[in-house]
Parts: sequence; structure tokens; C-alpha cells
Amino acid sequence: MKQQFELAEQFIQHWQSLWGDAPNASSLDVPQARFDEAWQAYTQRLLGNYPFQHARYAGQMLKPPHPVAVLGYLTAMMINPNNHALDGGPPTSHMEKEVVQQFAAMFGLPQNTLGHLTGGGTVANLEALWVARCIHPNKKIAFSADAHYTHERMCAVLGIESVKIPCNTTGHMDLQALETALQAGDIGTVVFTLGTTGLGIVDPLADALDLQQQYGFRIHVDAAYGGFFALLKAEPDFKPARHFRAIAQADSVVIDPHKHGLQPYGCGCVLFSDPSVGQFYKHDSPYTYFSSEELHLGEISLECSRPGAAAGALWLTLRCLPLKADDGLGLILKACLKAAKDFYQLMQASEEWQVYTEPELDIVAYYPNLSHTKAVDQQSQALFDAAMNSPENPIFVSVYNMASERLVHRNPSLVADTPRCRILRSVLMKPEHERYTGALHEGLSTYLKVLS
Ligand SMILES: *Cc1c(COP(=O)(O)O)cnc(C)c1O
Repeated sequence: MKQQFELAEQFIQHWQSLWGDAPNASSLDVPQARFDEAWQAYTQRLLGNYPFQHARYAGQMLKPPHPVAVLGYLTAMMINPNNHALDGGPPTSHMEKEVVQQFAAMFGLPQNTLGHLTGGGTVANLEALWVARCIHPNKKIAFSADAHYTHERMCAVLGIESVKIPCNTTGHMDLQALETALQAGDIGTVVFTLGTTGLGIVDPLADALDLQQQYGFRIHVDAAYGGFFALLKAEPDFKPARHFRAIAQADSVVIDPHKHGLQPYGCGCVLFSDPSVGQFYKHDSPYTYFSSEELHLGEISLECSRPGAAAGALWLTLRCLPLKADDGLGLILKACLKAAKDFYQLMQASEEWQVYTEPELDIVAYYPNLSHTKAVDQQSQALFDAAMNSPENPIFVSVYNMASERLVHRNPSLVADTPRCRILRSVLMKPEHERYTGALHEGLSTYLKVLS
């Protein structure tokens, strides 16, 4: 890390020196003692974080950015370009266009795909739903019951009626239920989630293409979490591969580089296969600087100021860890898949555990093997607390709240004596997890023994 800071520092000094001496402003000076005190207080507070960098953290979708991304971000941040307009930062604006093209290629979308980075998956999805409304102003938007809650919320923000399509017991959108809903003739767009946030389940997009032919709806793919797994779409042993291949048929796609793309927060991306949707973003502002004839990113984005550093960090990362199946990010994702598979098998083979369903990506949901949902619910919560608060060997997992009925469908020996039941969930999104599944299984089993 020290080396990275030095590289950033060296470059910034060089960049500054190109522009000659500049005056100082003493109002910017901070007294040393005041700084020391503030820094002390700041770092003390930051110690209150969970160990997101460590394999023992297998809770939510959280991990620190790759050191290369940190270097890329830090260096550009010290310049602070604004990718709102090309003139706000020509180099990082061009980098943004290049990474968007790389994502389009990864998904098999057309070469002239229009897209841009966003503050995250929420805004990226908002933009896609907004464009969907521009194209089908009086039609509804459908998504599965397990889709991210942002879709329902953003439909409300946009004043669009939404339809929730039930999932089958494994958490996949039920295509029969979708067809029944489509028969009403008022659905303009269907959102398919490729990698649900809760369980990493991949909606059956490839199987829905016939329905699309028949009913002519717009396809939006929310691959905020799972998008990078498209790198593995030609791998014979990657089961959901064909659904990732079907993304090529989508009208819009969202992917979050700040989830599986090794980036710091503040990096989502939305793509549109038809570049003419850019017309909906048209605005006329006296503030924007127009020094070039090229399309300004600010003209195809709902957000105005956006960090050029985010584009720079992503660009540098993809140079070092390319979007390939057998190199760079592909190897990282394979390690995560392997971790999930191994962990699933270890849990599956243990008497004291039940697994909810076979993982499709790198998220595994499981629970103590007990007779009633009330007991499962209580034990899961107790285990979550005990594992996280242990001073010797803390393990961080997360809790997933689901309808007991669904659990019972998957595991008929379980009796539902509560309407809902909390179970446990582990997001194995760090390649380091590949070598930690044994310790994770053993640690959790030990806590379970102590509790029962
Ligand atoms: C994370 C996520 C979102 C929301 O994205 P943010 O980056 O948290 O704003 C939307 N959809 C899915 C499937 C996600 O996993």
C-alpha cells in the first residue's frame, strides 16, 4: 500500500510541476496539533468496522477495493475530474467510454451500446426504468418477488405501476406466472435479475425469450450483483451460463463494479442496447461547457457531477485484471464459485445443517437442521450473534428472512410454526474464501454445538 501512495504522490507532483509555481493560501493550513487530534479520533472510530477484508467476513456484499483500484482512484481523485462533461475531465471521460464498451462486449451487446457509470446500482436501475417509462408510458413494469426492493421503490418514484411476479421455491422468477401476467396485455417491461441480492439466484432469462417474442415486452436485466459472471458464459460447468448469454438480447443492463468489480463504492453502470434512447436525456443548460462536438456524458446521465476517479480506477483495474474467463476477473469469480460449491457440499454433508438450495453464484443460504421453523429462526439469530461477537474466532455471516412456506417446500420434514423464518446466508465474494470454507464450516458448527 505504501508503494501505491508513493506512486500516486510522485505522479501528482509531476503533474503539478507541469503548470509552474502557484501561490499558496494560508486559510487552507491546518495546525498540526489539531490534525493529530482529529486523525486520532477518526481512525479510532474506523476501528469500529467489521473485518471486510478478511475471509472470516462472509456476511453481506462487502469487501475493500483492489489495491490497483485504490491507486487509480487516489491518483485521479487528487486531480478530481468531473465526468459530468468531457471538459470536466477529458481523460477520465474517455476512460469511462472505454469501460462501457468493454462491458457491452462482455454482455454481447451491440458495439454502439450507450452507457455510463452511475453512483451505484440504484441510480443505474432508476435510469433504466425511467427509459422504460419513456418508451412505454402507460404500461407496467414487472419483476420477480425476489428482485431488489429498489425496483418497487423506483416504480413508485417514477409513478409507474408495477407487477410482482411470484418466484418458485428456489427463488427463480416463475415463468408461468409471468405469462399469466403478460396475458393482461399491459406490461411494457420485464426486469430479470441475474444474481438476486439475497440468494444469488439467476432468473431464467434464456427461457423467457420465447415469451418476449410472443408478447413483445422490453427486457431489463438487473445484473448489479451477478453481471461479472457473464465472463464465464462459455464455461461448460457454469450452470446458469445460458442465461448470461441471453443478456445479449436485453434492452438495458445494470452492473455494479463496486460489487464484483473490485471498486470502491460509488460505481454502478447502466447500458442501453439502442443508443437512440439518448434522446430522452436531452437537456439545455447554460452551465455546460461545449468545447467539443463529441457526446458529453452529462447528456446521457441523470446524475450531473460524477467522479472521474471512479472511471479512472475501473479503467486501471480492468487493464490489470482484464475481463476474461481465464485471466483477471474470470479467475477471481471462479474462485468464488468454487468456494460456494465447496461450502455447500460441506454443509450438505453435515447432519446438523440444512442448505436452502444449491447455490448458482457465490451465495449460500443454510440453517440449523431442526424440526420447527420457530426453533430454526431462533437458533439462526442466536448463532449469528454468537459467531460475530466471539472474541477468539469471530465469524461474520448474515441473516435472511424468508417465508416459512418456502423453506417447508424445499424441506418437507420441517414444520412451519411461524409465518416467517430467519436463516443464515454467506456471501463468498472474495477469492480468498476458496481457502476458508473448511474453517468457516468448522467454526459455524462449533458455535451451533455450543448453542444446542
Ligand atoms: C446491490 C443491488 C442493487 C442496488 O445497487 P446499489 O449499488 O446498492 O445502489 C440493485 N439490484 C441488485 C440485484 C443488487 O444486487
